Order: sequence, then C-alpha cells, then structure tokens
Amino acid sequence: MRYSQTFVPTLKETPAEAEVVSHRLMLRAGFIRKLTAGVYTYLPFGLAAIRKVEKIVREEMNRAGAQELLMPMVQPADLWRETGRYEKYGSELLRFKDRHDRESCLGPTHEEVITDLVRGEVRSYRQLPLNLYQIQSKFRDEIRPRFGLMRGREFIMKDAYSFDVDDEQAGIAYQKMYDAYHRIFNRCGLQFRAVEADSGSIGGSFSHEFMVLAKTGEDTLVVCKSCDYAANVEKAAIKARPVENQEPLLEAEKVETPGKRKVSAVCEFLSISSEKLIKTLVYKVTSGDGQQGYPVAVLVRGDREVQEVKLKNLLQAAEVELAEDKEVFDITGVPTGYLGPIGLNGLNGLKIKVVADLEVAAMRNCVVGAGEKNYHLKNVNMGRDFEVAVVADLRQIADDDPCPLCGGELGQIEGIEVGHIFKLGTVYSEAMRAVFQDQDGQERPLIMGCYGIGVSRIVAAAIEQNHDENGIIFPVALAPAQVIILNLGLKDAGISAAAELLYAQLQAQGVEVLLDDRDERPGSKFKDADLLGIPFRVTVGARLSKEGVVEIRHRRDGLTVELSPEQVVDYLLAQITAAGPSLQER
Ligand code: ATP
Ligand code: MG
Repeated sequence: MRYSQTFVPTLKETPAEAEVVSHRLMLRAGFIRKLTAGVYTYLPFGLAAIRKVEKIVREEMNRAGAQELLMPMVQPADLWRETGRYEKYGSELLRFKDRHDRESCLGPTHEEVITDLVRGEVRSYRQLPLNLYQIQSKFRDEIRPRFGLMRGREFIMKDAYSFDVDDEQAGIAYQKMYDAYHRIFNRCGLQFRAVEADSGSIGGSFSHEFMVLAKTGEDTLVVCKSCDYAANVEKAAIKARPVENQEPLLEAEKVETPGKRKVSAVCEFLSISSEKLIKTLVYKVTSGDGQQGYPVAVLVRGDREVQEVKLKNLLQAAEVELAEDKEVFDITGVPTGYLGPIGLNGLNGLKIKVVADLEVAAMRNCVVGAGEKNYHLKNVNMGRDFEVAVVADLRQIADDDPCPLCGGELGQIEGIEVGHIFKLGTVYSEAMRAVFQDQDGQERPLIMGCYGIGVSRIVAAAIEQNHDENGIIFPVALAPAQVIILNLGLKDAGISAAAELLYAQLQAQGVEVLLDDRDERPGSKFKDADLLGIPFRVTVGARLSKEGVVEIRHRRDGLTVELSPEQVVDYLLAQITAAGPSLQER
C-alpha cells in the first residue's frame, strides 16, 4: 500500500460529537464515517482491522468444528411469531412491510432463521452435533446508539448456533465455544475476562460474557478479591439475605422537610443514615409487545441503586426507563423527592404497581416521602403501613456485599462486552418444533446453544484498551498494516530507493506495509503514523545518507533501534512473529 494512493482521510481536529476515545480516534484516523445515527461506513483501514478480527474468528470457529454459512438479513415476521418474539423483542427490532404488505424485520439475531433451517434438514441423531455460524451485519434499533462502533444500530457480528442430542453433548459444545473464545481474544491481543452473565445459577452457569477490560466500558464487572468469581453487575445476584431488623415498631409520624429532596439532604436534615431511608423511584415500563407503557414504582434502600436489568427481567418488560422529574409529577402529582409508597396513586385513576427490593422488606421504622411537597414520613414499616406487589432482588450488588461464592471482598472493574455465549436448551426448538429422532426412534427437541461475538465492537474495544495521547496503538494482530515506512527523502534518489527496496522486501515476506510516499512534512508523517497505530515505523531519511542507518520505532513503548537497511527485514519479521500468527499466508 502506498499512502499517496490509499484512502485514509485523517483529521487534524478532534471531532466534537465523539465522546469516547475509540470513536474519536477512529474518526480522526479515517477508519469510519457516520451515515446516520449508529450507522457507519467502514473506510479501507477501518475495514482492514475488521477483516483481521474476522479472520481470527473464522479460523478459531472452524478449528472448533463449526461451519460457516450466511443467512438473510431480511426475515419474515411469521417466523418470529412462532417464538413470540415478534411481539416481545421490543423496539430494537426494526419492523417493516414489503410491497405485498408482508410483515418483515431486519435480523438483530438469527435464532429463528437457523432453527427454521435446521428443523427442515435434520431428522436423525446421526446428523448431530451441528454448529453453524455466520459473520454478518446485524440491525438493532438501539435506544441510545453511541460511542461509534461500540454501540451501533448496524454492526458486524459473528453468531453461531449449536444443535445437540442431549444436555451432556450441549455442554461439550458450549465448552468448545468457551475455549475457542479464549483463543480468539488472546489472538486478538486483548486483555479480557470471561464472566458469568447469569450468576443465578452459579455452578451450572449457562451464560458467559467476554469482557475487554477498559475504563470506558459500558459494563461493570464485580470481581472477588479472594476467589475466581466474576460477574456482570447487571446480573450479579445478591446471595446474602438481608438481616432481619428486630427493632420495635414505632408510630408513624409526618415531618416537615422543606426543600429536602435528595437522599443526602433528607438524611442530614433528619439526622438519620441513608440505610434508614426508602427511595421510591418511578419507572416507565414498556411491556413485551413493545406498545403499551405503564409506570412502576421501585423501592430500594437510600444508599442502593436499582439494577434496571433485574427490574426488566422481573417485569418481563421490553424496556424500563427512569421517569424524569416532570414525568413523575405528571404521573403522580407529587414532585420527585417526596414520593413514598403510602397512598401512591397515579392521577386520573392510573394504577401504579409497587415493587420492593429484598432489603426493603427487612427494614424497620424507615423514612419515606409523604406523597406531598416538603414532607416525609418517619417510622414507616412495610406490611403495617403499606403493601407491595412483589419483593425481589432488584438492586445492584455493591462493594460492601460479600462475594456470592466465597463470602470474600468484592471489587468492581469496567469492561466492554465483546462476546456472549449461551446455553439455550430447548426454548427455540420446542417453540418451533425442531426435533430429531434419537437412537431409539424417539422424537426429541434439539438442544441448542448460541454464541455471539461483536466483530466491529472488538476493533473499538481494542482501541479503548490500546491508545495514548497521540493515537491508536494496535495489537499487531489487528493492525491494518504491521509496518509503516516513512520516506523522508522523496527528492533524494538514494533515500527513495532504499525505502522502495524495504517496501518490496517486506511485502515479499508477507508483511503488510504502508509506504508513506506522500509529499508531506516529516512532522505530519510522524503524526499520522502515530495516529494510525501501526505497530512498527521505519524512518528512512537523512541519517541513511550520513550514517547508513534507518530508525525503527515500536509504536507501543516508543522503543527505538537503529539498523542498517539490510538488517531491517529480519528484525521486523522476528518482532511480528513474536507477536503471534499474523503474517499473511503466501
Ligand atoms: P449489550 O448488552 O451490549 O446490548 P447484547 O447482550 O444485546 O449486548 P448479544 O445479543 O449477546 O448482545 O450480541 C452478541 C455480541 O454482539 C455482544 O457481545 C456485543 O459484542 C455485540 N453487540 C451487541 N449489540 C451491539 C451493538 N449495538 N453494536 C455493536 N456491537 C454489539
Ligand atoms: Mg443489546
């Protein structure tokens, strides 16, 4: 690749719309351009990095015995109706009608399509096990597309589906994917961690997420400081039961709390700890059919956070969203900060369901909002003063909670979910009647698993994990090119010839090289080389004429070596090989 002929439109300015570093750098490095919200064009270098990921994913999926196919993006609504997901999936599913008025959707995932395929073709246990995968663009109409490729609406995913005769075989298929995912993310050169995504079933966990560790992660992981426990905070179940408080019940009392709306302000004003206060939060809930919205009030201890994924699962909702102050007032007639569970009614006869976290049920003589501006109630007790529809684990696990496995101390780290593996069991095969005949001629539903990897998100995650103030620092395996040669003597025949020779020699060895042959100042060539994140930079300039050396600089740690041109190819080959199997097959 000659830089002068390569379409890499780098930007000097930092684009204002980008909030996270990978998004900023991918725009600045000319890797992506936005078409519309959450929808991007992958430019040649962005695509090159994506292709690197795809190649690793393919090789490891094939090695694990999975077979590649490619399913359609457009899917008929009727197929989704068979599993009930046409209604349940919510607004992320982009639905539309074709010219014959047939309802369709764009594939956000492919369980229905693959199950339909397999039920038509697989008859006997002899055709099993089967693991089929594809690498394809998915469409999800995300509520908040953001952070560039991290959360797009259109993005590239690898999705695989396994079919087995029984749970034991399905467990083997799952383990194969678990191992393949480790190899994939290792080969990508990423620091990652596999976490339990549903610790409700510790021991027999049926879902793992693979998290790239990076500060800007949208996900938080709880990790035990003593044992191997690691889980997504969204799903980390709180195992320890709250301690029953044995205090005698006191008489409820209304107190004036003028202008005290925040938990901290109320507690300070009443000289109580936040463990004595119950927060009442109103959520707007979109039900499974994606249409109807209704309010739900959630009660948690003053110092706790509602875990929205747990709430969503409890209500079997498509979406839950915290109501804004104005909405709370419109729904209840009470300003936020003064809401409480007693006499909580919606205006105009609207019903508000009240649900409480487990901890709330164990609290005694609590403070709650009085349902009236500038007032709270003291010594309120659940059961005596108010009832709730459901008590459940609804709060986010906190650092002071004990490890659910060993009771040890927990800590939190940030991560980006790049992969997700799941034991599906027979949910889809039963709904869609995907069956096979076992050895005894019995008809049985197929046991399924599904396994996703966010291919385009991996590139963003790699940048989140590997960058500095000057730009991207690609792991060698994902870099669009492994080496950049800067020709700093375009008008010097000797320098240019040496740069061209190195370019040819490296290419002949299967190295991907970008030759910066542009008529630009050295300063901007250095800047672009850093920005693009190419692992090794070779500078061919005046020092070649004077001292007979070229300079090689490692992008990651700035290590610089000076070599004669004859030593360069061997040196770089050794460096690239040491970084893993990323040389082009010739
Ligand atoms: P999230 O919780 O981040 O929304 P998900 O649980 O919806 O993820 P899956 O359905 O398991 O994700 O999809 C498999 C993989 O696809 C994820 O692990 C992630 O890497 C990737 N992915 C999911 N949604 C997006 C998106 N909007 N943009 C880019 N990649 C995505
Ligand atoms: Mg999602």
